[in-house]
Amino acid sequence: MRIRLRGAPAWAQKDGMTHTHDIAIIGAGPVGGTLALALAARGHKVLLVDKANLSPMEDPAFDGRAYAIAAGSRLVMEEAGIWNELPFAPCPILDIDVTDGKLGRPPSPLKLHFDHRDVGDEPFGWIVEARSIRVAINRRLQRADNLTLRAPAEALITRNANEVRLRVGTEDFSAQLVVAAEGRQSPLREAARIGTTRLPYHQTAVIFAIAHEQPHNGVALEHFLPGGPFAVLPMTGTPEHPHLSAIVFTERDRLARRLYEMPDAPFLREVAIRLGERLGQISLVGRRWLYPLNAMYAARYYDTRLVLVGDAAHGVHPIAGQGLNLGYQDAIALVDLLDGVPDPGAPDLLARYQAARRPVNMAMLMGMDTLDRLFSTNHPAIRLARDLGLAAVERMPRLKKRFMRTAMGQ
Ligand SMILES: Cc1cc2nc3c(=O)[nH]c(=O)nc-3n(C[C@H](O)[C@H](O)[C@H](O)COP(=O)(O)OP(=O)(O)OC[C@H]3O[C@@H](n4cnc5c(N)ncnc54)[C@H](O)[C@@H]3O)c2cc1C
Repeated sequence: MRIRLRGAPAWAQKDGMTHTHDIAIIGAGPVGGTLALALAARGHKVLLVDKANLSPMEDPAFDGRAYAIAAGSRLVMEEAGIWNELPFAPCPILDIDVTDGKLGRPPSPLKLHFDHRDVGDEPFGWIVEARSIRVAINRRLQRADNLTLRAPAEALITRNANEVRLRVGTEDFSAQLVVAAEGRQSPLREAARIGTTRLPYHQTAVIFAIAHEQPHNGVALEHFLPGGPFAVLPMTGTPEHPHLSAIVFTERDRLARRLYEMPDAPFLREVAIRLGERLGQISLVGRRWLYPLNAMYAARYYDTRLVLVGDAAHGVHPIAGQGLNLGYQDAIALVDLLDGVPDPGAPDLLARYQAARRPVNMAMLMGMDTLDRLFSTNHPAIRLARDLGLAAVERMPRLKKRFMRTAMGQ
């Protein structure tokens, strides 16, 4: 995308119709797509542009990638009309086990167990297939009121104190606010010269799904190993595979690549060593994906008539599956702040958005970073301290409840 920031562009001088919108959103990923639908549902006139083709996929193949959606995030999915449109049923997370381990040894008996019944009737959250969210968003986008979608398309954007102008193909648009929802490499953020800080983890996640013999009973497992966390997330089964789980297998970069490239049989042996007996016989379903991990945070969340949301503003370690949830919390904050205001690009509103979201996102980033550093080590003293820590937290019901409510996005 080419972005010009200052001066009237040549096309702005030409005669021709300019389509006026309240808010333009660049990027129709899970955060941008959901935000666009939620804002349009509140009566804002929204322009949404994505460089990718967003045709609704009637029957996309199972690809094994899944998100953990916290209960708090479900609200914005409902407001956007996506939740009831999900083509593959979400799987409720009823319990979470946190264990500490060492390769070749069973998980330490000093584990943390979270039971959703300790904080109410609602599950902690849901495991939702990534393809399910994509299909639901793309379907809703085709028939939403107040929403103009241009995809695949790129926007040429200029901003000044009074308005945002966008050229998309041969069409001209204006808006009072442009939202950068283009993910980690956000060109709008770069053009606004908003700096970022990145923390490399030297870890890569291998993502895939397994079918297994025993039911998971809605239990998610976070098994901490020196190379990185090994997460097992319960998925809704299919007629072919009644018991399914998604796995995020984090390891040091080089080993992760070796695992990614391994033939199925030795790869499954590596998985079984970490998983233990809990799910019985396992087999691979679908392909493997490789995600190098790093954390990132933007120095500011806004500029003149520009605001950052989702991965354009922050990226966290996937250790607790909170990345998309933070983006959804950004969307909720923005939808509430912009409700009924005459000028959605007013600087004081954007400053309030930053004040509401940046400290919370930073705290989550630091929390995930500390967790990863604390658990990705084999140092005997640290191992003992964290095992005792797990055991201590296990005996502190009030603290456990606080953790549970945070995980639920409350
Ligand atoms: C290994 C791993 C596991 C994860 N697991 C979880 C989990 O369990 N739960 C969770 O909550 N999060 C998880 N996350 C994080 C989650 O994937 C991200 O936070 C989420 O995808 C961010 O959504 P987004 O819409 O902000 O950005 P993206 O998903 O990156 O979407 C960006 C969109 O912008 C479009 N775009 C880009 N550039 C342009 C441009 N120039 N013009 C127009 N359009 C453009 C793209 O086509 C895309 O549609 C995980 C991440 C990783 C790496």
